[in-house]
Amino acid sequence: MNDFSDLNLAPQILRALKEKGYKTPTKIQIKSIPILTRGRDVLGIAQTGTGKTAAFVLPVLHRISKNSINPLGGHPCTVILAPTRELAIQIQSNVKSYGCHLNIRSTVVFGGAPIRPQIKALKAGVHVLIATPGRLMDLINKGYVKLKKVEYFILDEADRMLDMGFIDDVRKLSAMVPETRQTIMFSATMPSTVKALANRLLTDAQHIEVEPAVRTAKNIGEKVLFLPKDKKKIMLAKLMENSDLKKVLVFTRTKRGADKVCGHLKKTGIDSEAIHGNKAQNARQRSLNKFRSGTIRVLVATDLASRGIDVDSVSHVINYELPNSPDSYVHRIGRTARHEAHGMAISFCDHHEYQFLRGIEKLIQKNIPVYKDHPFHIDSYPDASHKSKIEHKFQGTGKKRKKVRFRKKTKYNRRKNVMENRQAA
Ligand code: AMP
Repeated sequence: MNDFSDLNLAPQILRALKEKGYKTPTKIQIKSIPILTRGRDVLGIAQTGTGKTAAFVLPVLHRISKNSINPLGGHPCTVILAPTRELAIQIQSNVKSYGCHLNIRSTVVFGGAPIRPQIKALKAGVHVLIATPGRLMDLINKGYVKLKKVEYFILDEADRMLDMGFIDDVRKLSAMVPETRQTIMFSATMPSTVKALANRLLTDAQHIEVEPAVRTAKNIGEKVLFLPKDKKKIMLAKLMENSDLKKVLVFTRTKRGADKVCGHLKKTGIDSEAIHGNKAQNARQRSLNKFRSGTIRVLVATDLASRGIDVDSVSHVINYELPNSPDSYVHRIGRTARHEAHGMAISFCDHHEYQFLRGIEKLIQKNIPVYKDHPFHIDSYPDASHKSKIEHKFQGTGKKRKKVRFRKKTKYNRRKNVMENRQAA
């Protein structure tokens, strides 16, 4: 199957795709569109960059266009849940462009933005509502949305949605949609929590998978630099002297870290901006647009803000700090080398991050080549002593208290992260 016309989509959709310059459907689209246009539930494992949004948006638009009725205010027939504002906005932009020749109305709602315009759009009536779970719950509780007429219920990036602590909202929302509906769930990974949710929500679902999530793209060059934490700033500035680093996405673990790195880059005369959960939605969108258009060379982001970053021709991804979740590494570096382009992922690894590196290498089932030809390379590092130091810390008399305190702190941090993520979305 080499052509969209083989997928029996409405002619208005085919026209929009032609205008967008899409020539052939992607693998995930070939697999899912025929099943979804027949009305079956689907559980899809696919990452951003595979064309997964069109894989569920096109068949849903097709089905809505077949039995189009004017939607009543506050009663959408389609609900698409997304974990972050950026992703929600991106999905709506896809809905709009694929449906530009159809009489289908859509709107997007998310937290951290004024609620009034969202209420106004909902009152006017929309077919497709794209939402982050928290804001949707809020609007439902205030009486502006009812899910009784939902026929298509879609969860995008389900794994991230659960990571961000939206499970309760997702459960509540799914209990509000009618039993007879089509449910579509997409996720980049399939941990047991997502499996359990899929079992609850989907009926006789067809499983579809493209590119296992653990495999990193073949056209991304990867390397890791071992260096002390306090040399990372200088190293980053040094790397930026190379003009091959045209459009660079730098990742940090924390919001504060993102601001700091961005501040440092600016001081060294490099145009950059930071995006993270503490930034207002329009500020995030502005920075993203500047990055997209090339006005700024570097965008510094946290993992949360990275979701939904769909920017072509990112030449380099730099992991200024390695993520503590190996999946995030795969996701981060997938921001480069999109649409068959080539890209480079450079990771800084200090002493404390070595354990994260081991986790990542285990997941991607290969060793990331170590780049030694830089002034800060630590030759004797990493070695087993690091691991044994960690283990040692929690052994022996008098250390038990420390261990308990460590556990409590980890639990506290985890809870704090979930709260922050939810606020940010
Ligand atoms: P997604 O995986 O949904 O984030 O899509 C990644 C990018 O691929 C988006 O910029 C889409 O506009 C683009 N895209 C999706 N399907 C196709 C296609 N069949 N041909 C070309 N580009 C596509």
